[in-house]
Amino acid sequence: MEASFPSLTWVSHTSMVTGAFPRETGVLGNAIFNRSLGVQQSFYGDDVFNKDDIVKVKTIYDLVKDRDPTSVTAAISWPLTRGSESLDYIVPESLSQATYNKYSKPFDFLAELARNDIPTERWGAWSALPQSYREDWLTASTAKYLIKTKKPNLLLVHFLVTDSFSHLYGAGSTEGIWAHEYVDGLIKGIVDSITDAGLLDSTTFFIVSDHGFTNVHKSIKPNVLLKLRGLIRVDRDGVVLSEDAITVMNHGCGFVYVLNLEKRDQIIREIKPLLAGLEGVKAVYGVDDFDKLGLPTPVLNPQMPDLVVMADEGYMITEESDLISLLGDAHYSGTHGHDPQEPWMKALFIASGANIARGVKLTDVTVRDIAPTIARLFNTKMPATWPGQGGKYRAGRVLTEILDLPKDPLEEFQPTIP
Ligand SMILES: [Zn+2]
Repeated sequence: MEASFPSLTWVSHTSMVTGAFPRETGVLGNAIFNRSLGVQQSFYGDDVFNKDDIVKVKTIYDLVKDRDPTSVTAAISWPLTRGSESLDYIVPESLSQATYNKYSKPFDFLAELARNDIPTERWGAWSALPQSYREDWLTASTAKYLIKTKKPNLLLVHFLVTDSFSHLYGAGSTEGIWAHEYVDGLIKGIVDSITDAGLLDSTTFFIVSDHGFTNVHKSIKPNVLLKLRGLIRVDRDGVVLSEDAITVMNHGCGFVYVLNLEKRDQIIREIKPLLAGLEGVKAVYGVDDFDKLGLPTPVLNPQMPDLVVMADEGYMITEESDLISLLGDAHYSGTHGHDPQEPWMKALFIASGANIARGVKLTDVTVRDIAPTIARLFNTKMPATWPGQGGKYRAGRVLTEILDLPKDPLEEFQPTIP
């Protein structure tokens, strides 16, 4: 499955639940620079934003709730769900116990889980990268509890350790493979609880990942280049005095924001070819490329950078601005955020269960197809067909080839033009 561009957790998860490109969802990266506030902001962990502050379009859980307000909806550790009115049960995606305590929904949900032997006071500590298999156990335990006691119509569950261990130890490492086996076992536990609840025949499963991985051996430091060109100025102690441009790191890619608006075009003309010439850089995309990548221009969304520096396989981008070298050691064993059309950055897609045809192999599937397909299973449609057909990336569609459903009469209907 192809992720959205760039292949990052917050970007892809939002495309999964909306069927939309980052251009429409407003979720552009794991980290961005807020031009109006003059600060870098992170979507990583739902500590800063409510879902409605950021996500500009309807999600599948909004649609399910709109269609039938008695539907029970839940999301456990799913990015950017904080504060959603359309979800009855939420445990946010965070690294902070304070965020879990404050924003889990309903307000006494964590206490209710704790009374049922799920140690929710550990959620913060267990969300640290090396511990995240324990967070996943909390997530699976919560999912099983919800299935047993609330019978949700739509349940979103996000496991972390497959990503954490592939970052820490490398994709395909012994620990990375262990993480996948471990999550497979947690999923089995959820399937068993659905069977025990008598819901197996009416349940459809989508088991998906949000991106692939590449093992990295070097990091690229675009901020060193900006410093060498005098675009980042520092005092003798290295403290930044002023900046005409900066890079925000998004692992496999870097977002370059030109802050000097008077010299904006000149600076872009100067640095674009220099960035493209750095070892490990696969491409540098400018404003003219953004639409066909499913991204907005900075005019449409000021959080958007002026340039996106895309790393090649084996490389990642960092924000370091030391003057020692333009390349450094990799910060992780593996990472992502690269071009989602690269074969090594492809994600996983499995659908099975009620209304899914057996044995169909998909050759063309993107994260943007998930929400329209789930909507079809709820006998409804996502509220808009997103543009982008004909660009480098295609818009989301209902994956009719995997569905074992009576034909939708509206899809069959072809108006006769006199
Ligand atoms: Zn990751």
